[in-house]
Amino acid sequence: GYRSRAAYKLKQLDDLENVISGGDTVVDLGAAPGGWLEVAAEKVGPRGQVIGVDLQRIKDLEEPSVNDRIETLRGDMTEERTRERVTDAAGGTVDVVVSDMAPNMTGEYSLDQARSLHLARQAFETALELLDSGGNFVAKVFDGPDVDEFRAEVEEEFQYVRATTPKASRKESSELFLIAKGRLTAPVSEGD
Ligand code: SAM
Repeated sequence: GYRSRAAYKLKQLDDLENVISGGDTVVDLGAAPGGWLEVAAEKVGPRGQVIGVDLQRIKDLEEPSVNDRIETLRGDMTEERTRERVTDAAGGTVDVVVSDMAPNMTGEYSLDQARSLHLARQAFETALELLDSGGNFVAKVFDGPDVDEFRAEVEEEFQYVRATTPKASRKESSELFLIAKGRLTAPVSEGD
């Protein structure tokens, strides 16, 4: 089994939209305890690479051959410094950026929702810094105000965007995932 139930969400998202391919380099934001890392490492296979980041320390996986494909960083993705470390670890552009980041819950929905959207926006900025053209992006966000506006911003940068809630997300939760496929090449500016 996987080390988190969350692993099944990434499996279902990938079944739906083929987010990760063999040989890909994947950046996983909010990766602890590591369920998505396990799924991503399986999907990229022996020629791929996965970089996981979290505020929490992430324990190594038991299987050394799979663990060899995974690098983990401890840090806060809302800090520029951490985003730089991720860029350095990637050493170039990447194929996929996924984020399952979630705030510490206060129980006050409007606050938790706003924090969740802020984390999704940080993930989007990271994706814009790191993703190769044609690359894919997935981000979790709690549904609520400004999610449509955020989705519209993501749509401008990708071939298409789909919002979905995988079965593995608890029924009572209002989380959704934006799956953005095919990062568009930077448009040629006028006058070029
Ligand atoms: N996808 C993971 C898995 O499969 O095991 C589960 C991720 S859990 C739902 C959300 C994670 O987001 C938490 O581990 C939390 O520490 C992390 N997180 C929240 N805010 C963060 C931030 N600012 N920077 C990095 N990680 C953050």
